[in-house]
Formats: sequence, structure tokens, C-alpha cells
Amino acid sequence: MTSSRIAARVRRIKPSPSTSAADRANELRRQGKSIVNLVVGEPDFDTPAHIRQAATAAMDRGETRYTLMAGTVALRQAIAAKLERENGLTYALNEIIATSGAKSAIYSAFAITLEPGDEVIVPAPYWVSYPDMVLACDGTPVTVACPEENGFKITPEQLAAAITPKTRWLLINSPSNPTGASYTTDEYRALAKVLAKHPQVLVMTDDIYEHIRFDGQITPHFLQAAPELRDRTLAINGVSKTYAMTGWRIGWVAGPRDLVQALDTLLSQSTGNCCSISQAAAAAALNGDQSFVTESVAVYKQRRDATLARINAIPGLSCRVPDGAFYLYINCGGLIGKTTPEGKVLNEDGDVVMYLLESVGVAVVAGTAYGLSPYFRMSIATSIDTLEEGCARIARAVAALR
Ligand code: PMP
Repeated sequence: MTSSRIAARVRRIKPSPSTSAADRANELRRQGKSIVNLVVGEPDFDTPAHIRQAATAAMDRGETRYTLMAGTVALRQAIAAKLERENGLTYALNEIIATSGAKSAIYSAFAITLEPGDEVIVPAPYWVSYPDMVLACDGTPVTVACPEENGFKITPEQLAAAITPKTRWLLINSPSNPTGASYTTDEYRALAKVLAKHPQVLVMTDDIYEHIRFDGQITPHFLQAAPELRDRTLAINGVSKTYAMTGWRIGWVAGPRDLVQALDTLLSQSTGNCCSISQAAAAAALNGDQSFVTESVAVYKQRRDATLARINAIPGLSCRVPDGAFYLYINCGGLIGKTTPEGKVLNEDGDVVMYLLESVGVAVVAGTAYGLSPYFRMSIATSIDTLEEGCARIARAVAALR
């Protein structure tokens, strides 16, 4: 028994480590320290003008009221057209629901399906929020370590070994935050073959970084590789990363009718519909000129190439080439066991991250937050000058180790 007035399901979870790292960096900056913040996980571009104008036009037309819970017909038509055009997937409007960001879509999908103790397979490294979302919905996250040698991806053997009668979901995030790793169609097929033997397992695809890719490839969708699993897959996506719209809070879920209907019921009794003005902006983003996507991805690619070269030139650090997203997941195994000028031994990646912050003012996030150590995540969603300064400082800090 505890006297806490906060429910156990909330006491089980912790605030996002990336938010905490950003807060710490901002606090040091307020104290007057020179900080290079490489924590942020959002595009540093402004939302394109034609999208902002669509929001203004919606307000001027009086679209300032409640919308249908699932989202306006215009937005869901735009999402359906996008899924058809870009992913070759066909969804009816009643198989799509708009949510306040992909984050709330993922959380709500767990909320409508998990019974206490149900397991969710989360390949690690994972986006920091997944395990806590599962815990907040009374589920049990089952993390599966996917080492760098396997491209940070779950293998069919690992999946088969992780599935139990209590498994409810497999979560797939491609390209991944934090590693940028992305699955190929063949890899998806091999996973689908394992899933075919376990009809109780649902699949959640977090497609939020699908357009942020550096190899000129189109990110294959799990359902293109395994259309037979359509009835047990939720495809989750949103406009945040692709169109630099993190503040607008529009995501969506496409999936079988019963799950989408349950999401509609839950959300109708909790958040209600997502922002009407943002919905109009998101529809314009999906239907409109896509040149921003190509241009911004070209900029991310330049940054990735420049930063990757600098990091890989630092003794003790190495980074696998990310296929997409806007992060480097940097192996710092070569620094573990070294001693700082102050005489502190670096025992784990959290120590490395603290040392970088305190000695040279570079803020990054420790691999422990993502479930695979020893690594740290560096965001490249910032200017090339900031990235160069960050790399120069890291090189200086590493050179001072003994
Ligand atoms: N999934 C992943 C992997 C992410 O990195 C993020 C944003 N950090 C989200 C989902 C959430 O996106 P949204 O802004 O649409 O809630």
C-alpha cells in the first residue's frame, strides 16, 4: 500500500529523457555557459508558407469549431490519397483517424488494446517513449536488443524467441529514432513469416521518418511486404517531421475498422478531435507542393555526411551510416574506462554524456535512454555551423581523456 495520490500507472513511468536533457542544457545556458544543443528531435526549418497560409484561410472561413472526432473529411481524404500515392495502400475514410500527433496515436493504440500484463515487443534501440507508453497502459514492454552488427534491426529469430502467448504487439519504427536504420522489403517478409504463426500479435508501424532518407530510396512499408497482415496492422504517421510541423500536432492511424472505431471511442471521451486549424494545414501539406520535402532532406543529408565524417575521425567514437531520420547514434565504447582530466573514470555512456556537457558544453542523449549502450544520440536537425562546433568540442573533450 502506498499513500501516493498519483496512480501506479503514472508512478511507473518517467519523463522523456530527451526532454530532461534539453531542459538541463537550457538551464546551463541560462547560467551563462556556452552550450551546443544536439538533443532536439525536431526539424529546425519553418513550416512552409503554403501550409501556414492554409491555416489562416481555414480560420478566415470559420473552421474554428469542433470537427468530426476522426478528423475532417478533407484531411482524411488527403491521408487516404497519400497512403495510396506514396505507400500503395488503400484505406477507406472510416479506416483512418486523425490524432493530436503520432505520439498520442501510439499511446491511444496501446490504451485500446492492452490488458494488464500484455506484452509489447520493442526492438532496441527504441524511441524513448515506447516503453513508458506501454507501462502507462498497464502493459509490459519486452525490449529486444538489436546490436549494431545486425544493423540495429530485429531478426526473425529474435522475434520468434520474444513472442509468448501474452504478446499483443510488435512495434516497428523505420527509419528509426535513434539509429536511422530502416528495414528492407525482404526483412519485412521474413518477420511477417514469423508473425504468420502467431495470429494474436498485432503490428504497429511508426512511419514518422519515412520521408527523411538519405540514400534516394523510398522507404518500403511493412504492409507492402506483408499485405496479408493488413487486418492486424496499424500504420501510424503524421506531418511533424516531414513538413516541419511539430507544433501543429497532427498525426494519424490507418488500420482495420474495429481498432479505428475503438480509437474513435476512446479519443471522443478524452482529447476530442485534434485542432481544426491544424487539420486544414495538414491537408494542405499532404495535397500540396512537395518540394520542401526534397529540399529539406537534401540539407539533412549534407549535415549527416559532414557530421558522420567528423565523428568517425575521432578516436574512440564510431557511427554506422544512418539510412534516414535526423540523428547519429554514436558508439562510444572506445571511451569507456578512460579517465577525465578531473580524475573521473567513464564507466558508462551516461558518464560520457555528462562529461561532454560539463567539460565542453555539448548536450547529447545517452544510449541508456534508448535501451542499447554504450552509445549516445546526436541530433543533426540543426545548422551545419552548430554541428561543426559540436564535433570540434567533442574532439577536444575526447583528446583530453587519459
Ligand atoms: N515517433 C517517433 C519515432 C518520434 O521520434 C516522434 C517524435 N519525437 C514521434 C513518433 C512523435 O511525433 P508527433 O510529433 O507526431 O507526436
